[in-house]
Amino acid sequence: MTAQLFVLAGPTAVGKGTVAAAMREQHPEIYLSVSATTREPRPGEVDGVHYHFVSVEEFDRLVADGQMLEWAVVHGVNRYGTPRGPVEQALAEGRPALLEIDLQGARQVRESKPDAVFVFLKPPSWEELVRRLVGRGTEGEEERERRLATAREELAAEAEFDVTIVNREVHAAVEELVSLMVDPSTDL
Ligand code: 5GP
Repeated sequence: MTAQLFVLAGPTAVGKGTVAAAMREQHPEIYLSVSATTREPRPGEVDGVHYHFVSVEEFDRLVADGQMLEWAVVHGVNRYGTPRGPVEQALAEGRPALLEIDLQGARQVRESKPDAVFVFLKPPSWEELVRRLVGRGTEGEEERERRLATAREELAAEAEFDVTIVNREVHAAVEELVSLMVDPSTDL
């Protein structure tokens, strides 16, 4: 039986990556998609694990070959996309799959895979989101401002999603996500 596809979206620094990684630790049977991106790796990021780091030319070739399930230019600069093959293979093997992507990508998946479950990860407050972004310290001032502008737009899109999870505490957010993904009796 084909398994269910889940999409996790939400504003910058809300903790999507942390929640998704913690979920995979607990449930290795869930397939967590590894996106391709044209951005530079951050310290500690490993090619093929956190992202497939590719050139703009390579990225555009993958898009032209129809190998991207969705893709977008995020925060006005870099391209990010979901390689189609591994996701479809996981689903065909009966493994639920999770895409951790931005709002533009989520909207594309809504078109191509309307049966997917769309989960919105939300910060407890705007102030907390700003605090997390500043605390993470991975962006300079200009990039931070750009990400916060996108975050305001993304927060306004919550109603487009099937489920909202408030990320107050990673452990609790992971539990909510897992209960959606591994307990088919959960009422959406
Ligand atoms: P970061 O540069 O902080 O790793 O990610 C920036 C943004 O890109 C995040 O909002 C993340 O969800 C989004 N993103 C990561 N991978 C993909 C992808 O494959 N497709 C789309 N559309 N967005 C992605």
